[in-house]
Amino acid sequence: MEKLLVINSGSSSLKFKLLVMPEEKELADGLVDRIGINGSQINIKYGDGQKFVSDEEIKDHQVAVDRLTFLLKDLHIVEDLNEITGVGHRVVAGGEYFKHSVVVDDEVIKHIDEISDMAPLHNPANLMGIKAFKEILPNAFAVASFDTAFHQTVPAVNYLYSTPYEWYEKYSVRRYGAHGISHHYVSQQAAETLGKPVEDLKLITCHLGAGSSICAVKDGKSFDISMGFTPLTGVTMATRSGDVDAALLGYMMDKLNITSMDEMLDILNHKSGLLGVSGISSDMRDLLEAEKEGNERASLTIDIFVKNVIKYIGEYIAEMGGVDGIVFTAGIGENSMPVRKRILERLAYLGVTFDEEKNAANYEGVISQPDSKVAVLRLSTNEELMIARDIMKLKAEAENK
Ligand code: ADP
Repeated sequence: MEKLLVINSGSSSLKFKLLVMPEEKELADGLVDRIGINGSQINIKYGDGQKFVSDEEIKDHQVAVDRLTFLLKDLHIVEDLNEITGVGHRVVAGGEYFKHSVVVDDEVIKHIDEISDMAPLHNPANLMGIKAFKEILPNAFAVASFDTAFHQTVPAVNYLYSTPYEWYEKYSVRRYGAHGISHHYVSQQAAETLGKPVEDLKLITCHLGAGSSICAVKDGKSFDISMGFTPLTGVTMATRSGDVDAALLGYMMDKLNITSMDEMLDILNHKSGLLGVSGISSDMRDLLEAEKEGNERASLTIDIFVKNVIKYIGEYIAEMGGVDGIVFTAGIGENSMPVRKRILERLAYLGVTFDEEKNAANYEGVISQPDSKVAVLRLSTNEELMIARDIMKLKAEAENK
């Protein structure tokens, strides 16, 4: 039995899960929020429904890690930090260098740092987490898992933009995708649920959350992905625009008297998407409520989101020459019965028929009818478990060397 800590360190937050492996049991789940900002808070769920909540000043990631490890002992989630034998870190951008999860060493830290300009908000925060845990748990087996790694199998015909080829050769400009850990996990779960080898399936996995992406998974490998060089593109997201015409940037900079590209990107990243179109909220639940009350812009916003999902599903069916299963996961994909229903109704042309009751109940597994031409699954994603499995795999490999 091993106790493994999985860390998702963002620019102002640090999420964690403590898992027992290989039993795949969750011991604790928590979040340190608003690091370095007024109103920091620590939330930990553990035991049989116990909760710890504390408002306190957390000035940086090092303090967050110190407090978290102190609390793990203080709350008797572990009696000794040495019980934690492995730590896994989710890293957003791995570029072309990282094609799978790796054991953290100085070389790995150097490379994550070198590609930081591809994810300036995320990679430095991920590195802070890696370094802070290296200090406090020096004996734990440390692994980095990359959100881009699963997409390293995407062929050039799908990852290259139609921009000058030298941009790719000299500056690594290409589609990298994101949410790879989630797409990988649910594609494996889907194959298991369908009782078929993933290598024999054409799947489309729809990770629909605050950030959303759609992935074509062919023969168990990522074949195309809606996110691009950065996670800004693809379908409409909570506050991210998804695909826009690049010429719009110059045009709107003129109109709005904006001289900085960072300011423009901030609008596309934080003031667009569901929030920007609706003018109401970035949360799908609020939009569904507003629609019920007759708000037409909320309704239009949801329709645009649904249209984008349908568009990518259609594109990936065409690219793969068919599809065996469509998977819904993440915040909206797992929990929003009405949004799934709207998407599925528009897939009737494929011969998709779905079970209204299972869809309404957020059933874990297959929600299509037995006669459906394409299987539809609603599956809970579990990125932390995927990372913990990678730690176990790499640890076993290292011990057998
Ligand atoms: P993150 O990308 O932060 O991990 P999540 O996958 O948790 O995001 O998704 C969060 C989003 O999921 C929320 O912003 C909300 O729009 C949506 N969501 C969660 N629950 C529901 C629900 N019951 N109905 C509709 N949307 C939901």
